[in-house]
Amino acid sequence: MPPYKELYPVGTKVRVAGRAKLDDFLRTWKFHHPLAPEQLLDADRVAEVVNVGFYHGGDVLYGLRDVPGTWHEECLLPEWLDHFRTEAADFRRLEPSETELVGQWVPVGKRVMGDVTEKRIEWLTQGQLRKLGCDSSGWEVLFVDEADGRYWELTYPHREMHGGGPKCLSTLSREDAVHRYPRVAWTAGGYWTDELRKTVQLLIAQGLRDGAFEKAEAEASMATGALPVYCDMGGCLLIRPDSSIFLFDWEHQAAAPERDPKWLRMAAVRVARRYPALAVLAPQRPADARACSACSGTGLLMGVTCGECVGTGWV
Ligand SMILES: [Zn+2]
Repeated sequence: MPPYKELYPVGTKVRVAGRAKLDDFLRTWKFHHPLAPEQLLDADRVAEVVNVGFYHGGDVLYGLRDVPGTWHEECLLPEWLDHFRTEAADFRRLEPSETELVGQWVPVGKRVMGDVTEKRIEWLTQGQLRKLGCDSSGWEVLFVDEADGRYWELTYPHREMHGGGPKCLSTLSREDAVHRYPRVAWTAGGYWTDELRKTVQLLIAQGLRDGAFEKAEAEASMATGALPVYCDMGGCLLIRPDSSIFLFDWEHQAAAPERDPKWLRMAAVRVARRYPALAVLAPQRPADARACSACSGTGLLMGVTCGECVGTGWV
């Protein structure tokens, strides 16, 4: 038989078993090194192993830093088990002072399990934060915390690990969010602020007052309470102060929410061009975008806006 090896080498952090376990051991262990009653007071304490001994080459006995007495192996638990105790679950909303949560995987036998932070990240990203979208690889995910409007990014810093590795949740600025997640258009509810709402309201009021809209546009604006952005023979695209986009149909003189991604993109392109105060709404070119083949990346086809890329030059 191979010699028994200690479970907790010197330097390992262990947790003394709970009171019930120690009581039980005190009552039932009748051999060498019995538990002293005062050792019960150290139930649940965390300490470092400072020495290891083998009683007649068999039972392992431990000495712990700042915890008196000799401890049998079965009265100790690995400290990492703490991560899995349900009472150690840390389900808190993100606090204003927090900027980064880094999860960890802890080996449990031949498997690994997420620690408390990992579980908190899962809890936060599976219901507490609003998901806005993924990056082009599909691995990284952008969230917004509606409590304070901060953006959070879920990443996997050790993606090379089997299973993707532990998660990391870190905050990022609006600028970085727009830059890194260009596909999360503001049309998806991603980046709309109180400031934008006020700007749209102001532009509607100014346009109507100053006669800056075409006659038909002004009618559509008044009918929908929205800012005219782009018109063609079929109708007029307009943006409401709450960021919703409508198509006002000339023929029926009626507005309906626009949902076609191509037209939503067109609205973003046009509103940014037409109203400098809303330039921030222009779609950003993603790192992996390719030049539009229809217009060779110019955005124009025989002098008019390319219908394929709606004038951006990339798709
Ligand atoms: Zn094009």
